[in-house]
Amino acid sequence: MQRKVGVVAVQGDYAMHIAALRGADSGVDALEVRTPEELATVDQLIIPGGESSTVGLLMQRFGLGEAIVARASEGMPIWGTCMGMILMAREVEGRDQYRLGLLDITVRRNAFGAQVHSFEDTVSVAGFGETLGVFIRAPIVTQHGSAVEVLATYGEQIVAVREGNRIGTSFHPELTDDPRMHTWFLSL
Ligand code: GLN
Repeated sequence: MQRKVGVVAVQGDYAMHIAALRGADSGVDALEVRTPEELATVDQLIIPGGESSTVGLLMQRFGLGEAIVARASEGMPIWGTCMGMILMAREVEGRDQYRLGLLDITVRRNAFGAQVHSFEDTVSVAGFGETLGVFIRAPIVTQHGSAVEVLATYGEQIVAVREGNRIGTSFHPELTDDPRMHTWFLSL
């Protein structure tokens, strides 16, 4: 059976993830997910980059957040990039915004400061080696529980984590030509 991977398509750079998934594996069925009904048709999920407060509110309104939490508890692999990692966090520093609590982490939004809205640099990810990290108003992980594995740091900052088959990255592999992280996610 063809594997179906959903990308939350409420707002943000979901089209880039769909293209990256198709590039990583031509046999994959990459689908936009906006509703609990669409979520029910996929085996794995990506939550893309975007604006976490806006998408959180809309996910809550459509019942999508609740449905994602239920699928996660059944073991569905989920990967959040940037905004996606913020939405997957247990806590967001200094803000009471909607979140899914799927990763036992605290995140700080826009952590690299106003002057450095975006930058690119090499990041070394555990289990891969090096990849290009594209950071756009990126968050960092400031605290994490003992079940959380740190996959990558940038300087002193934690920028990629894993907890079971849930992954969070501060950066955007979907905006590079390197398909390896998507290939890896498909293998989970
Ligand atoms: N700064 C955004 C937020 O806090 C995330 C940015 C991104 O996803 N590229 O929601």
